[in-house]
Amino acid sequence: MAYSKETREWYENEISGIREAGLFKEERYIHSPQAAGIAVEFPVGAAPKQVINLCSNNYLGLSSHPDVVKAAHEGLDYRGYGMSSVRFICGTQDIHRQLENKLTEFLGTEDTLLFPSCMDANAGVFEAVLTEKDVMIADRLVHASIVDGMRLCKAMQDTYKHSDMAHLEEKLQEHQDKRVRMVITDGVFSMDGDLVKLDQIVALAEKYNAMVFVDESHASGFIGKTGRGTHEHCGVVGKIDIITTTLGKALGGASGGCVSGRKELVEMCRQRARPFLFSNTVAPVIVSGALKVMDLISQTTARRDKLEQNTICWRKLLTEAGFDIKEGESPIVPVMLYNARLAQDIARDLFAEGIYVVGFFFPVVPKGQARIRTQMSAAHETHHLDKAIAAFIKVGKKHDILGKGKKEIIAMYGQ
Ligand SMILES: *Cc1c(COP(=O)(O)O)cnc(C)c1O
Repeated sequence: MAYSKETREWYENEISGIREAGLFKEERYIHSPQAAGIAVEFPVGAAPKQVINLCSNNYLGLSSHPDVVKAAHEGLDYRGYGMSSVRFICGTQDIHRQLENKLTEFLGTEDTLLFPSCMDANAGVFEAVLTEKDVMIADRLVHASIVDGMRLCKAMQDTYKHSDMAHLEEKLQEHQDKRVRMVITDGVFSMDGDLVKLDQIVALAEKYNAMVFVDESHASGFIGKTGRGTHEHCGVVGKIDIITTTLGKALGGASGGCVSGRKELVEMCRQRARPFLFSNTVAPVIVSGALKVMDLISQTTARRDKLEQNTICWRKLLTEAGFDIKEGESPIVPVMLYNARLAQDIARDLFAEGIYVVGFFFPVVPKGQARIRTQMSAAHETHHLDKAIAAFIKVGKKHDILGKGKKEIIAMYGQ
């Protein structure tokens, strides 16, 4: 028997180790559509409880928007349920290409290629466009899917300290002998919520003849005046060589991702990117919903404006209450707790108060950096935020962390 008693015990021990370290992740079942208020079954078997959701990527409140749902229904009737093929055999419909064109227009690029997910876009893009003569120079806090994509590529790998432009410049100088230098970054860093210094990166890329890659998963649809992303925010639209992003967050939240950018680079992905070639792409029903999302966000900035207002308000409420938050302007607002168990305890107590948040800890964030990552949505109304802050204050008092900073919290709870 290959899966022997010893083998099973080894895995059981590993899992116990994860539990004992306070790092065990529990799934929670949601019995409602994604929205500002959701019904959550937790623990498993309990009757679903109505709570305010502060941890989704439903930034624009479009995940269950009636117009998007209606468009998805129509898509189902119009182009069926599944494709039963990868794109290049018989898996591309007219609506896939329409969506790619809309994304190109919205992102201000030359061409776009859909992928099953942004994880897949990142897994495929580097290998498709770079060779062993090239170098990838990545910010040290890029998303896990970029790390994996870089691993699959033969180009040399290097990193620069998070958002440290002087360090990036050193690296660009060091790699002048390479055919291509590609600077690789997230637009908004998902754990801390800080924005990339994209104008400075573009200036360095121009000075040292480098390409720029940005993953805009936590930016597309709401960062920048018209929500196009960090390139709009930083005034460098048209200067980014490759953008990857997801349909799984602000843009309807279903699934799917894309590579968008210089047309030759996108063409290389169409020819070579393995997750594109060997996996089905987004289903017609999702494409139809996403087309409606693109219409909605192109017509008006009302949703991204409301998200911005909610973010300003929520940051102010948490700060005034005495929580230790990461400063910034994105709707990702991390409440720092440093200790994994404390983060989980507070998340549990908040749930009892009707607020749904999740503790983040190693390996999702570095050891000793545990936190609760709150996220704003345009779907939140003032009454949601009022109720949420009252619960945060109550639970913060219980654990005696209000007005306390990093040193004091670590002194009380350890790292
Ligand atoms: C969420 C996320 C992804 C993955 O997106 P999927 O489409 O869900 O695979 C990739 N990159 C970043 C930066 C993300 O935040």
